[in-house]
Amino acid sequence: MKDVYLKTKGEIEKALDSSPQGLTTTEANSRFQKFGPNALEETKKQTTLQVFLSQFKDLMVIILIIAALISASMGDAESTIVILVVLILNAVLGTIQHIKAEKSLASLRSLSSPSAKVLRDGQLIEIPSTQVVPGDIMNIEAGDMVVADGRILDLYSLQVNESSLTGESTNVDKADVEFDHEVPLGDRLNMVYSGSLVTYGRATILVTGTGMETEIGKIASLMNATKEKRTPLQVTLDDFSSKLAIVIMIICAIIFGMQIVRGQPLMDALLFAVALAVAAIPEALSSIVTIVQAMGTQRMAKENAIIKNLAAVESLGSVSVICSDKTGTLTQNKMTVEDIYVGDETYTSKTLDLHNQLHRYLLYDAVLNNDSSLVDGKGIGDPTEYALLEMYRKVPGIQVDEDTISLTENQLRDALERMEEVPFDSDRKLMSTQYKIHGITTTFTKGAVDVLLDRCQSIRLDDGIHPMTPARKQKILDKNQEFSASGLRVLAFAYKEGDESLSKDTEYGFTFLGLISEMDPPRQESIDAVTQAKKAGIRTIMITGDHKVTATAIARRIGIFEDGDLAVTGLELDAMSEAELDQNIEKISVYARVSPENKIRIVEAWQKKGRIVSMTGDGVNDAPALKKADIGVAMGITGTEVSKDAASMILADDNFATIIKAVANGRTIYENIKNAILYLLSGNLSAIITVVYASIFALPVPFKAVQLLFINLVTDSLPALAIGMEPGAKDILDRKPRDPKAGFMDQPFIQKFSLQGALIAIGVIFAYQMGLQTNPNVACTMAFSTLTLARLFHGFNCRNEHSIFRLGFKRNWYSLYAFLLGVCFLSLILFVPSLHNLFSVTPLTMQQIVSIGGLAILPTIIIQLGKIIREQK
Ligand code: ATP
Repeated sequence: MKDVYLKTKGEIEKALDSSPQGLTTTEANSRFQKFGPNALEETKKQTTLQVFLSQFKDLMVIILIIAALISASMGDAESTIVILVVLILNAVLGTIQHIKAEKSLASLRSLSSPSAKVLRDGQLIEIPSTQVVPGDIMNIEAGDMVVADGRILDLYSLQVNESSLTGESTNVDKADVEFDHEVPLGDRLNMVYSGSLVTYGRATILVTGTGMETEIGKIASLMNATKEKRTPLQVTLDDFSSKLAIVIMIICAIIFGMQIVRGQPLMDALLFAVALAVAAIPEALSSIVTIVQAMGTQRMAKENAIIKNLAAVESLGSVSVICSDKTGTLTQNKMTVEDIYVGDETYTSKTLDLHNQLHRYLLYDAVLNNDSSLVDGKGIGDPTEYALLEMYRKVPGIQVDEDTISLTENQLRDALERMEEVPFDSDRKLMSTQYKIHGITTTFTKGAVDVLLDRCQSIRLDDGIHPMTPARKQKILDKNQEFSASGLRVLAFAYKEGDESLSKDTEYGFTFLGLISEMDPPRQESIDAVTQAKKAGIRTIMITGDHKVTATAIARRIGIFEDGDLAVTGLELDAMSEAELDQNIEKISVYARVSPENKIRIVEAWQKKGRIVSMTGDGVNDAPALKKADIGVAMGITGTEVSKDAASMILADDNFATIIKAVANGRTIYENIKNAILYLLSGNLSAIITVVYASIFALPVPFKAVQLLFINLVTDSLPALAIGMEPGAKDILDRKPRDPKAGFMDQPFIQKFSLQGALIAIGVIFAYQMGLQTNPNVACTMAFSTLTLARLFHGFNCRNEHSIFRLGFKRNWYSLYAFLLGVCFLSLILFVPSLHNLFSVTPLTMQQIVSIGGLAILPTIIIQLGKIIREQK
């Protein structure tokens, strides 16, 4: 069979039973059933059973099971059963946590999967890329990711980067050609392939292959997309856990040796030492981090910030510079045309005159040299462009049909056929199209005033065409300055006649027509968010393709630009040396007329100062800057697929304020993780201290193996997870950003968990000593109960740095539930006689129970008092 690229368009269309109108929805659905989703298959995920079994892979758990079985064979069947049940429950909990984390990660991934524009039932619609089927007619344009293989039907200056397939990094100019002989993949100019990026132009393609039937599907081995890379924090914690595990195992080995020397039966000593290891090694650290992060990112997704990888959550907490685009992010992107400058006069849309030929040409330029449309009054495409259509509709007389001039924009577009075009891009800041008007080939162009004015050699006024003199040019520039100073975005319009073919190289020699200014009001939320960011020690920088004066006016209104700040243009930035930039970077709050390359330099300059930088971007050329930034932020609505692919966070609402909310969430998540770890480490330490104490003073062991396992089950995961769910502190944005260089396990943190662990241990040891006055069994029961209860109380201390009186329970019911559940379990063990044997506890007197309660709550009272004193300061 011939390869697709060797066939003619007609042959492929016939083979795929498709037409230029695309498929019907019914046909597309039946093809979806037949071909399956358009996605690369992933390696098989672990089944629930496999996840469950993998919970037992831990060496300590295996030793424990063996020891328990041996001790059962020696007659202690009851405690063996309890050990096994507790271990199974532990594994069930671990499995649930694992599956929950996986699910949240998967839902995050699906939130950021690309979309495709296809024709269905003759209508252009946007669908998730997974639903594209062979035979679909798909539109692609600059910034899109090609999501399926296809034959090009129609194209305008299409350039594609196919490096993911061919390894070739330069862009390929595609063409509508036919081949009669085989050529390598990179030379098949009439095809586009899944996985490549559209870097310029646009095209209509006929989808020929999807999913594993694409070229990338054929060469790529099965994707391993489900594996999330470990985040820096997880790496640090895993490293810490394994070191800690070694220390704990050494301690346990010593205790084991001491018990043997003291004549304990071998199996009992082994069982105890291993149970202590299992209880004390914080094996849950890394998975707690994943779960807290994954749950946090779900909360963030609800608030419109879609996080693509968990590592971003960690960096978010220490972001101290946010470089934000202006249009649409800080402003509303709701453009309306204000003043119009044409024929040396200023008009509004309502005062333009259709019978004036100059005005008509300006309107032609605005409507024809424009890719947007208005459907039921709603704009589709670029807001800068559909504002021009809205303006056109307001011009008096536009709806009168008998006059050929006063056509609606659609009639005008239907009457005249576009011959050629060079699309807008943020590097050139121009857009040009060619039409035949009254038999004359006419090129219309529009773009940034400074760029276009330099390409105009004449100007058209009411009385005809005049040369562009320096005085005339100055007048236009003054007008531009006047519009810009009030925060308006200004577009210049020009045209030329002649048959010369249109390309980037021929966008010269124009006749100037006029200026149209557009208002794009700032978002109210941006103003508040910038103030909040300032309080949070975060610097906001505006980066825009717009004019410097416009940008500064808007930046001032939003609060980004203050007296003494600097605004520079991309050109001025290019002229700066590294040293100059280094010196001025802190003062510059507005960058105007920037090119995507400028953005990289800005990010690097801030990073050199040790700052964690977030950078927004939407265009195809923004990808490198987004990758370079610590947090690349793409726009969910207006952003290109390429920018979304490169970013680590996507704003579903394109709103600057969402970044600040995400930073607050990032800080909260980091704090919660730290607090959960504080809880785990201090609790585990208290158990170790108690055991070491008993060993040193040659006292009987303070806990039984089952009790340690019970403590591990009931007081570890649930309260730690509850701490992880704590909502953000109200003052989270009043603090300075976290120092990125400060490690997690810093001195204050180690001191804190050691001190809190020691406090709890003192209470437990007291209880133990009290019990010893009766007998070792009572001592054991008292030590176990005090430790369990004290750790449950301690859960409240670790929620936040504020006292519980300030926090209350309403903010985090989970912490109360985890506490109550733990207390219920403990009460069952202590007060249901049939369970006494199973957990090796003995009945206690009222006085002993009161002592347990008192000693368990004492550390919490001391810690809370400390907090209250600190709050008073
Ligand atoms: P940002 O979103 O980064 O703030 P921006 O949207 O303000 O950038 P661009 O879209 O790159 O910047 O636009 C830069 C300039 O190009 C604008 O000031 C305007 O003069 C001109 N321009 C914008 N859109 C068009 C368009 N569709 N056709 C022609 N010129 C345009």
